[in-house]
Amino acid sequence: MPSHPTAEVSSARLADVRRRLDELRAHDLPTHGGRTLAYVYDSGLADVDALGREALGMFASTNGLDPTAFPSLLRMENDLVAWAARLLDGPESVGAVTSGGTESVLLAVLAARDARPDVDRPQMVLPTTAHAAFHKAAHYFGVEPVLVDVDPRTYRADPAATEAALTDRTVLVVASAPSYAHGVVDPVPELAALASEAGIRCHVDACIGGWALPYLTAVDRASVPAWTFAVPGVSSISVDLHKYAYTPKGVSLLLHRTPELRRPQYFSSAAWPGYTMLNSTMQSTKSGGPLAAAWAVTTAIGESGYAVLARQARSGAVALAAAVGLEWDRGVEHLRVVVEPDSTLVAVECDDTCDVFTVADEMLARGWFVQPQMAFRSMPATLHLTVSAATEPSVEDFVRDLVDSVRASVLAGPVHVDPGLAEAAATLDPAGLDDAAFDGLLQLAGLVGPDGPALPERMAPVNALLDAAPPPVREALLIAFLDRLQRPSP
Ligand SMILES: *Cc1c(COP(=O)(O)O)cnc(C)c1O
Repeated sequence: MPSHPTAEVSSARLADVRRRLDELRAHDLPTHGGRTLAYVYDSGLADVDALGREALGMFASTNGLDPTAFPSLLRMENDLVAWAARLLDGPESVGAVTSGGTESVLLAVLAARDARPDVDRPQMVLPTTAHAAFHKAAHYFGVEPVLVDVDPRTYRADPAATEAALTDRTVLVVASAPSYAHGVVDPVPELAALASEAGIRCHVDACIGGWALPYLTAVDRASVPAWTFAVPGVSSISVDLHKYAYTPKGVSLLLHRTPELRRPQYFSSAAWPGYTMLNSTMQSTKSGGPLAAAWAVTTAIGESGYAVLARQARSGAVALAAAVGLEWDRGVEHLRVVVEPDSTLVAVECDDTCDVFTVADEMLARGWFVQPQMAFRSMPATLHLTVSAATEPSVEDFVRDLVDSVRASVLAGPVHVDPGLAEAAATLDPAGLDDAAFDGLLQLAGLVGPDGPALPERMAPVNALLDAAPPPVREALLIAFLDRLQRPSP
């Protein structure tokens, strides 16, 4: 008998791969412990995290492509949507689980566009603080973004300016609850009323606040305007579960007020000889893992658990904002919170003795990740702080290290950008640059080391240079950088 080779893998080899995974992971930001104040969300509930990972593994190979083949996935999706519908005051609403906030936003824009085939060159009206995912949707789907400046004092959308921006080509008005960059809720009742009068859709992007704000209702929400389906004219809402529902990554919800509003989100194709493709979201084959993990984590934490977690995150954010201070002459010297937070996010600016980019580097050196945000229109550069439940117990430590970081940053002085380089960045036309020119620019910007593209030890010089450049130049430089990073090493 000829012996067939088998693909069996030895246990030594398996162990070696595990070791290498650990090595790779060691250079990432920590996802737990509450010291990473962007990108990740930590409930502090280790046993629930373990359950989420178990569910992720159990369902990793199931395929959401066909809910009749995997009825478990349909059931869990409907359960999650039903929960969100209750939270968002939309008893008649329907929805779908997507891979993340961006996919939810993309689909909301797509549905708004496709609901209006009569409109030739569709537009959507966005407050300047709307998430970049709407610009991605604009780019993908050919819906022109019409940007409306927010109120410079409150950082909230301006209803009068929004009204003035509506045309007979507008298919969508967008509001945030809250905005990612500054953490405030737009005046949804006014914006939704405008949309409703114009006979168009209004999407509320509650990707980051949708699973936290509703749990703060009783205690803490007096000043926050209504933003759920309870507001007439709100047609869809996005809520990320992989943010404040503390589930593993890859889960968001998009809800529409009625099945009819959801209809243009579906796609089906029988125009080939294989299975009829039938999708409610952008992915076709999709792992059931993230959905099952979200179902497991949310079910385990439960309504009462989320009420506690939301209050923890909120009290962390409030304590942090109070410590930094809303005025220059209060709290941490040289810093202030740009606007009183409505939810669990805080944005902090520096006076001209230092800069937020250096403060971010100093904080990283002290074991905290805070996210620098560039200046945009009249809005200053800031540090973004997403406060998780697990950060709340460490707010005092955070503030102590922040004071130290600011002291070090003031000593160093605001990061110096070579005036020639700043001038070049400010006037560059990225469309006119070839690959060699980008290579040169990346080198000048400090994004290329001796072994090719690499992040420098300190990011402040790079960030300050980008900050001095207009947004299209920032975009082009960063794309050139990523393009070079994403090349397999020889
Ligand atoms: C995070 C976020 C998004 C995008 O979500 P991803 O999950 O990162 O794709 C959209 N809008 C808001 C307000 C967000 O906070």
